[in-house]
This record gives sequence, structure tokens and C-alpha cells, in this order.
Amino acid sequence: MSAIERFDRLFIGGEWVAPHAGTHIATIDPSTEDVWAEVASADETDVENAVAAARAAMRGPWGRTAPTQRGALIAKFADLVRRDAARLAEIESRDNGKPLRDTLGEVQRAADWLTFFAGAADKVNGDQIPYRPDALAYTRLEPVGVVVAILPWNSPISLASWKLGPGLAAGNAMILKPAEQTPASMVALAALALEAGFPAGVINVLPGDGAVGAALSAHPGVAKVSFTGSHDTAIRIMQSGSVNLKRCSFECGGKSPFIVFEDADFDKALSVATHSAFRSTGQSCSMASRIFVQRPLYERFAAELAGRAARIRPGAPFDPRTHIGPQTSAEQRDKTESYIALGRESGARVLAGGGRPAGLPKGYFVEPTVFADADNRSRIAQEEIFGPVTSVMPFDTEDEAIALANDTRYGLVGGLWTKDVSRAHRVAAQIESGLVSVNTFRPVHFMLPYGGYKMSGIGRENGFDAIRAFTETKTVVVDLSDAIPPDPFAD
Ligand code: NAD
Repeated sequence: MSAIERFDRLFIGGEWVAPHAGTHIATIDPSTEDVWAEVASADETDVENAVAAARAAMRGPWGRTAPTQRGALIAKFADLVRRDAARLAEIESRDNGKPLRDTLGEVQRAADWLTFFAGAADKVNGDQIPYRPDALAYTRLEPVGVVVAILPWNSPISLASWKLGPGLAAGNAMILKPAEQTPASMVALAALALEAGFPAGVINVLPGDGAVGAALSAHPGVAKVSFTGSHDTAIRIMQSGSVNLKRCSFECGGKSPFIVFEDADFDKALSVATHSAFRSTGQSCSMASRIFVQRPLYERFAAELAGRAARIRPGAPFDPRTHIGPQTSAEQRDKTESYIALGRESGARVLAGGGRPAGLPKGYFVEPTVFADADNRSRIAQEEIFGPVTSVMPFDTEDEAIALANDTRYGLVGGLWTKDVSRAHRVAAQIESGLVSVNTFRPVHFMLPYGGYKMSGIGRENGFDAIRAFTETKTVVVDLSDAIPPDPFAD
């Protein structure tokens, strides 16, 4: 085993700071189950210091930085992420177990996200409103202030860029709180923020567990929390953030329907379904975890999906033959296995997988698993598993497909496959989710708004309008007339 890497400082106010309590998180390589790194862990004193530093940045040089200059700093940051992509991807793969090919792609996309929002920084305009001929009324889009970004463990760098890009473009100061399972890449990112030359306190990084996230969410000096993770945590953040009516953006996962009508391009739908059900070992909020197939195609589609699932090679992230890595933690592996057991108990048929892959005695690996004939009301079809498990279910009519798709508390992503253009738009309009795709699945891009209906979240990330979620609108009205209004109290 190689030596344990140390990321032994927090990043607060532009400086590397020893954690106040002197504690560290031991982070585990999920493909070997060995500790690979120790990462400084914050406490409430560090939280106080980071909030003070971020507030000082807002009052100080960051608040006075011209938008074009803000954009130039974000662009420089993006270039540094590109320069160090290989190193960042390696850290991410060791922390969360994803194949290096995948994390490299995520880091490169994170740089693209930052570049897009760099270009947006000097285009955050308010409006002039002609509400009266003798008045000048306009809106200013001002930064909300100190923003806390609380991150999950599945795609830390990528999801950080979704928050840093618009947050910084709008002029906010940011505190990043990575997940305790995968904190190392945010510390590496902090070094690039320092090199990019952001003023002190604009970007702060506080690794730590949920208590650190809770302290930040409850802090009255924090104006907004932008969170990705489970809805249970989102509810807690909303409760603790109510202390000062914090602005909240939440992205909380899904149980995404993938609907295949009988006139679909079978091969294309099958290929995309395989990728969409098993990429990232199922550890994404937008997996094709409920695949509804119209009856005439159902048995064949389920069987061929199972055949493809059986060919997926789980393995170590640095083995170029690996298709998917392990689950990121033992807890997540156990959770997935408990859902596989629940699926069997519910009477669903296991067509592929259902166990641990052979030849991998160490690591939190789970076989890609396909259930057929699941009941859409059963727990495997209603709860987010976050593992490589999908359920294939039949339907007969368009109305039934829509009803099944919407029969969930989630509403993040939905997809349908048909060559009938009227049906495509008709069904797309009725799917209760923030993103609906036709003949593709979950197209994610910095230009496309992304976020959930129902328990999948609040607000939208990505797209130019994501910046609005990081601003306050101030309306300014200037009366242009010299006329003195009549005194209503004169007589
Ligand atoms: P989680 O919601 O507990 O953790 C996400 C982040 O929130 C972490 O940084 C964590 O430290 C922080 N956190 C925990 N408690 C907090 C609190 N009280 N206040 C503020 N921050 C707090 O998610 P998890 O336990 O890592 O994963 C559980 C499930 O959540 C997964 O199995 C999956 O279903 C879902 N999940 C969804 C996404 C997504 O992309 N939407 C990502 C990760 C996990």
C-alpha cells in the first residue's frame, strides 16, 4: 500500500489553517478498503472564522471587484482546473472509486462549467422598468452574500463547479463543505483558487461531517445554502436555515422514469438505458432507475438489458478495463444490498446481478442488477437506491405510462422514447420533472437548467438563469418630477 497522503489544512480567508480541534478525517479508497488520505476536519470555531472571512471579503476587495475582473478570475481558475485535471481526477477516483476515465471527464466538464460562468459574470444585468413616465425605475441584481455549498460524495468537483460558477459570477463569497467520504478534492481545488488570485475569503474550504454542514446552515452570517444530497438533509438544512430565512437551493435526487414506447428505436433506447442505469455505479441523482417498457417490447428489452448488465466489468478505478467502480462507502454498499434483498422479497425477478462480483475480494463492489416485474409501489421502485440497480416494468397505454412515471415523490429527470412527434411533446408536457428528454436521457450541460419538482429539490442549477438564484433583486425608484404632492393632512 502506498503512503497515506495528507491534506492537513483547511482553507480559510486565503490561508492554509490547521483545524482548530486538530482532528482529521481518514478517507478510504473504496476499491481497496484502505485509508489513502487524511484530511483536516473543521469544527464550529473554524466555521466562525470562515464565515467572518467570507463576510470580510464581501465588504472588502471582492465587493469592489468589477464584474469583468470577477469573470477573468473565474476563467483563470477554470484554466488551472484544466491544467491539473489529471491530478484532480486521481484524487477524486481514490476518494469515490469512480474509474479514472469518468473522473477525468467530470473534472474537464467542471472547468467548462467555470468557463461558461466566467463569461456570464459581466452580463448579470437588472432591468429598467417604465412604470411611470416621470420616474426612473430599475433593478439591480446584487450578490446574496456568503453562500455555503454543501456537497455530496458522488461527484464533488463537478457539483462544486455548478455552485462556484454562478455563485462567484454573481459576486458572492463561498464556503465549500465537501462530504466526509470525499473531502480531498476540495482541498486540492482550494490550492487552485489561491493560485488563481481570488481575494482572501472569496473561496473557503471546510471539510467535515454533517455537524459542520449543520453549523454553517444555522449560522446567521450565511445568506444562502446551495445543497446537493439527500432530501432528509435538505429538510434539516431548511429547518436550521430558517433562523435567518436563508435562501436555499436543493438538489436531492430522483427515481427517474425511462419510458420506452413500442415505436422507439429499440437499439438506441437499450444502449442509453444500459449506460443510464449503471454509470457511476448507480451513484447519481438521475439514474434510469425505473424503466417502463410498452408490453410488446417488454420481455425482449428486459432480457437484453440484463445481458448487457452482465457484461459490465466492475473493477478498480485505475484499471483501464474497468467499466464501473465500487460503491463509494461500505454504508452505501450495504444500503444497496439491503434494497436488492427487499426487491427479491417483493417478488420482483432478478434478471442480472444481485450479488457481489467474483474476483474482487476487497472493495465495496456490487454487481449491476436488473429486476423485472417490480411493482412501482414497492420500495425498490419508490426509494433512491444510489447503487447499480434498476427495475424494468411493463405498461400498456400512454396514460398508464404517464401515471406510473409520476407516481413517485421525486421529479428530477424523465425520459421517453418514441418516433411519434405528437406523443413526444404530449408526454413531455405531462411528466412531473425538471428535465424531460426525448430519444436521449438526462442531457446535462452548463446551458441547460437542471433541478427538481417535488422532493427532488428547490430551484435550478445550470443555465444562465442559475445566476439569479445567487442574487437579490433590488428595485430602485427615482422620482423625476419637481411637482410637490398635495399634503393630505393640510386641512
Ligand atoms: P447526505 O445528504 O447525508 O450528505 C450530503 C452532504 O450533507 C454531506 O456533505 C454531509 O456532510 C452534509 N450533511 C449531513 N448532515 C447535515 C446537516 N444536518 N446539515 C447540513 N449538512 C449536512 O447524503 P449521504 O448520507 O451522503 O447519502 C445518503 C443518500 O442521499 C444517498 O444514498 C442518496 O440516495 C442521496 N444522495 C443524493 C445525491 C445527489 O446527487 N442528489 C448525492 C449524494 C447522496
